[in-house]
Amino acid sequence: MNIEKIIKEKIDKPVYLKNDGMCAGIAEKEYGSLKDSYNGVFLGIGTGIGTAVFIHGKLMEDIRSAGHMIIERNGRKCNCGKNGCYEAYASMKVLKTQIRNRLKNEELSSKDILNLLQNSDEISKVEDILEEYIEYLAIGISNMARICSSDTVCIGGSFVYYKDILFDRLLCELGRIMIPMEKEKTKIKLATLGNDAGIIGATLIY
Ligand SMILES: [Zn+2]
Repeated sequence: MNIEKIIKEKIDKPVYLKNDGMCAGIAEKEYGSLKDSYNGVFLGIGTGIGTAVFIHGKLMEDIRSAGHMIIERNGRKCNCGKNGCYEAYASMKVLKTQIRNRLKNEELSSKDILNLLQNSDEISKVEDILEEYIEYLAIGISNMARICSSDTVCIGGSFVYYKDILFDRLLCELGRIMIPMEKEKTKIKLATLGNDAGIIGATLIY
């Protein structure tokens, strides 16, 4: 569907269209955690996994979809049609679905889940889910950091709302799987602009 054309017909203003993950990355590069980065990767961990890659400070428009790199042989079916994609294991949507299934409550909102995870009795019921989630998340980050020779990987999307629960675990797992040379080269940062980065980035694309 040509959304750009449809909106243009309705409003008398210029219309530009860009992928939300890429917009978020652009905002982090301009104002946030990738500001001083030379080779930087933005991963928006949310409904899926958005991607923006900057090489020598420039956005690589054609490098996208880190969420659809296969990280598991014969793995889960992904919305894209492939099996074993990164986002079928490491998106926030997948994590929340697994938690709802474990607690047998499909009605839990994102806020409810966040509250539950702040309670030590509740978190113990889903500890194995968190552990596995973090393992997969770290694999993709480590792959992207290595492939792009990144000085910085910035993690954004709705993941940032869960940072108090997930970020230290993630750093710990990356410390375990990355080799010393990689750890020295790549800083792992949270998105400074939080989950608003996409909206802010959209104002920068024309
Ligand atoms: Zn996929």
